[in-house]
Amino acid sequence: MKIYNTLTKRKDEFVPIEEGKVRMYVCGPTVYNLIHIGNARPMIFFDTVRRYMEYTGLEVNYVSNFTDIDDKIIKAAIEEGVPASEISERYIDECKTDMKSLHIRPATTHPKATEEIPEMLDMCKTLIEKGHAYAAEDGTVYFRVRSFKDYGKLSHKNIDDLQGGNRSLLVSGEDQKEDPLDFVLWKPKKEGEPYWESPWCQGRPGWHLECSVMSKKYLGTQIDIHGGGEDLIFPHHENEIAQSEATSGTSFANYWMHNAFLNIDNHKMSKSLGNFFTVRDILAKYDPQVLRFFMLSAHYRSPLNFSAELMEAAANGLERIMTAAANLNYNLGVAGKAEMDDAEKEQLATANSYKQKFEEAMDDDFNTADAISAIFELVKHANMTGTADASAEYLRSLLDEIVMLSDIMGLVVLKEEELLDEEVEALIAERTQARKDKNFARADEIRDELLNKGIVLEDTREGVKWKRA
Ligand code: AMP
Ligand code: ZN
Repeated sequence: MKIYNTLTKRKDEFVPIEEGKVRMYVCGPTVYNLIHIGNARPMIFFDTVRRYMEYTGLEVNYVSNFTDIDDKIIKAAIEEGVPASEISERYIDECKTDMKSLHIRPATTHPKATEEIPEMLDMCKTLIEKGHAYAAEDGTVYFRVRSFKDYGKLSHKNIDDLQGGNRSLLVSGEDQKEDPLDFVLWKPKKEGEPYWESPWCQGRPGWHLECSVMSKKYLGTQIDIHGGGEDLIFPHHENEIAQSEATSGTSFANYWMHNAFLNIDNHKMSKSLGNFFTVRDILAKYDPQVLRFFMLSAHYRSPLNFSAELMEAAANGLERIMTAAANLNYNLGVAGKAEMDDAEKEQLATANSYKQKFEEAMDDDFNTADAISAIFELVKHANMTGTADASAEYLRSLLDEIVMLSDIMGLVVLKEEELLDEEVEALIAERTQARKDKNFARADEIRDELLNKGIVLEDTREGVKWKRA
């Protein structure tokens, strides 16, 4: 598997730190509003990365945060006259609803910045002790950028060029910095803002610090993959590297992955520009799977322009796969022969070559566009050979393959019959037993299987509760 690494500017062979396991952190949204479809691009893409890695047998520990304290959240709270936490909690819930619609599986952990403050204070203290940070008179703590010799290695910027650019951006209040390049780790509260106690002042953490700390806490000092949109390369990820590596003395993330923008009229879709559609706006008009299909129809490092025509093309493409799956399923129900004959075995080998093509595309820096093309080739082959006179074994193999590859893309292409309550209960019982036997892989598999059929499990003290989504 090769991954394009922003750090090295080339496709690097993926070798995880711990064999068979992946530690992946992706910067999540700032929750002050409904997410827009630009925010959904990294969510859908990295969910697909995770699904593909799991398909290859890797165990993925996937962490994605919610930035739940920020100027924009505070502003929204003041406007509504409610506490900031009410705004952030509301939009975390809304974001989770959108994720579910788009078949974005919950990460292993979704930490919230406000719940990790003690660890942030610890990192600040360590950085000060090591001479990488200092507190100014008003209690603001700054990172001393020039103390970190590798600064600029991710964004491939030269620190002296930055210095020139930044000087002209000097704004009032910044003159307490030793160097214009220095960035904030901890800042004093303003009147009426939420705050936490700290040795320096009552205040709150800087955004960059939050991600360094949450990544370390949930994945360890060194991680495999760190991802996000390309707008985060500088300064956010550059600053994360500086904080994390200055704290630990070792490298932070081995592979840095960045998705290109989702554009509208060839401009980045963003809340600040006002040129956005929320996921909710789009789902009022389109099936969520169409949006997902649209996002994956381009390579993640290519800009993608949102348009009604491309959404139409995505709807047609998805329809083609779903029709093929429905036909195979129908033919399976009426198949006269049970087992494959030799001619079908050969046809199956051809089908498998498309699966291999799919895997090659995904192994080449997650080329979802080519992977979808491989699914189309498989579909075409299935339409030609998976006819009503085919054997059940052959039809089943074709159907399984199409369903499985689509599932890696997060697409459910065969509408399953609804599970009966007794079937759900039986699967839950099997999962409980699997957990007792410490067979967590099977337990997770059952949870996912149920989720795919719209059954959501909740582990409570009284046992497992379930509901239909
Ligand atoms: P934000 O809420 O702005 O911090 O963004 C959350 C995530 O969405 C980050 O990884 C951003 O890079 C990403 N993002 C924001 N806007 C876009 C866009 N138009 N296209 C692709 N990714 C985006
Ligand atoms: Zn981040």
